[in-house]
Formats: sequence, C-alpha cells, structure tokens
Amino acid sequence: MSEPKVTPADLKRAIRTIADFPQPGIQFKDITPVLADARLFSGCVDLLTANYQPGSVDAVVGIDARGFIFAAAVALRLRAGFVPVRKKGKLPYQSYEQSYDLEYGSNTIAIHVDAFKSGSRVLLVDDLLATGGTAAAAAALVQRAGAKILEVTFFIELSFLKGREKLNGYPVRSLIEF
Ligand code: AMP
Repeated sequence: MSEPKVTPADLKRAIRTIADFPQPGIQFKDITPVLADARLFSGCVDLLTANYQPGSVDAVVGIDARGFIFAAAVALRLRAGFVPVRKKGKLPYQSYEQSYDLEYGSNTIAIHVDAFKSGSRVLLVDDLLATGGTAAAAAALVQRAGAKILEVTFFIELSFLKGREKLNGYPVRSLIEF
C-alpha cells in the first residue's frame, strides 16, 4: 500500500518554534525536523511544485541559505535550472546587488549578471516569508537580471507581518501560515 499523502497540516505539526532565537523576541521556525524526515521533505516538495509541470519553468531561484534547500529540490522536480541569490561578497562572478532595510541596519544580496537567458520563466523560492524585505529585494534582482517571475513561493508565511504587501505585483503562495 502506498503511503498517505503529506498535507500542509502534517508539515505544520513538524515545525518546531524556538523562542528568542537568534535574538530576544523572535519566534524562530525550525524546519530541520521536516528536512530530516524523508516522507515529509518529499511531500513538501510535492506541494511546492503542485501548480507546475516539468518544462513550464526555466529556472528556480533560491535565497541564501535555507531557500537553497527547497529551491534546489523544486528545480530537480521541475527539470529547471537552479540560480542562487547570495549574501553580498559570496558570488564569484560579476553580480547585481540590492540592499534592503532590516529592523536594525541593512542587508545586501546579489545575483550573477548572466544568471538567466533573457525572458526566462522563474519561480522564486524561500523557506519563510516574514516582513518580505528579503524576497522583495530578491525579486528586484531577478527582474534586473532579465527574467520573468511566475510566482514567489514560500514554505512558511508569518501572515501577521504582512510581508505579502511588499511583493504586490507578483503572485505569492505559501504552504502553511502562522
Ligand atoms: P523577511 O525579509 O523579514 O521576510 O525575512 C525572511 C528571511 O529571514 C527568510 O530567509 C527566513 O529564513 C528568515 N526568517 C525571518 N524570520 C524568521 C523566523 N521567525 N524563523 C525562521 N526564519 C526567519
């Protein structure tokens, strides 16, 4: 008999919330129990790719660092390429950079200038949508590099932070909300 399908509720139950990590006031969503369970991890990738057929996406962009885990798996499933958006100073070739504000200070992320063929159809993937600053900056980089974003896809969304509002203009989808 085949195993029952993984549901978003199964995934939600497996996520562990760690209070005050990495700093006081943050409820950190720990996804490692999902990754460590072969059935849950594979089911999570099934759900992330559910709206797309292999061949309908040219590249999947993952955001440094936990986004890489999901984006690479999604890329393999959809037979698409994988493109990393990395923290500034990590990419070896000529890159576009984009800065965005954090609660305290700012952050800069980057993408290779030749990451895409012109007009590539792209999924942008990250583990978690919080304020939306990271994903909005990554989306700006993808556009600057000449690709078209089909959807911005998250495993987890912290809806109370209203990060979606920073991504208006793009279809946004998340598997589970807190
Ligand atoms: P933001 O730019 O505020 O949407 O933050 C999103 C990025 O920060 C994602 O790449 C997440 O990995 C990470 N992040 C923010 N808040 C949390 C949280 N509560 N638990 C786990 N990761 C988080």
